Amino acid sequence: MSSPAYARPVPPRSAPARRAAGRGGEPFDPDETQLARTRRARRMARELAVIHPDAHCELDFTNAFELLVATVLSAQTTDKTVNKVTPSLFARYPDAVALAGADRAELEEILKPTGFFRAKANSALGLARALVERFDGEVPGRMADLVTLPGVGRKTANVVLGNAFGVPGLTVDTHFGRLVRRFGWTAEEDPVKVEAEIAELVPKREWTMFSHRVIFHGRRVCHAKKAACGACGLARWCPSYGIGPTDPEVATALVKTPVASDTE
Ligand code: SF4
Repeated sequence: MSSPAYARPVPPRSAPARRAAGRGGEPFDPDETQLARTRRARRMARELAVIHPDAHCELDFTNAFELLVATVLSAQTTDKTVNKVTPSLFARYPDAVALAGADRAELEEILKPTGFFRAKANSALGLARALVERFDGEVPGRMADLVTLPGVGRKTANVVLGNAFGVPGLTVDTHFGRLVRRFGWTAEEDPVKVEAEIAELVPKREWTMFSHRVIFHGRRVCHAKKAACGACGLARWCPSYGIGPTDPEVATALVKTPVASDTE
């Protein structure tokens, strides 16, 4: 059986990556020119497409309303858990009008498996009521409108815009922020600033798929605690290479399979 693309020998590393690694492990190199950083970023983005050809939105949905509700429910819960409750949720409440008029006890019962079900019922009701009161029950297709909805920030808005409206969006969640900092693409911690900096490096038309690929890489390979550096297809360009095991065998054992990757 052939190895997956993320589990192959690490090729020789590029000069910027070596230089950055030699500066005490700080991944962002202020001396790297914007042109060099952009070239490196685009090379890594192309490699991510090879490594994760199956990257996609892991929340199940059939329309913008379902995706918006599912994304809001996914706070502090895995996508897999949300996918378990949304079939019965949307069968019972297929649109914003139905959800806005939901019986709270019944709604809480449906949401129970997600944990924090009282808070999630509140979020779902507040969101549906705002959609009915201000947007005729329809999900708006503009960032400026989406972020006025309760529980909807830029991250959720970008998920909805990118995956339900075809409007490119960068989804800066915890995986995304951690990885682009490790890549040395930004030193920013604030998600809005991270989004603005990465927008300069990656072509706009690729933002949505690029976000899925980075998040897949964070779930499968570049874990928060133990990055599988020795089995990472990005190692050649990554200044953080070495923060996790570099031994190929040890690192490969850390890589999560597609089935096991939805744990965070
Ligand atoms: S696993 Fe290691 S080499 Fe790969 S992106 Fe993460 S820090 Fe860089």
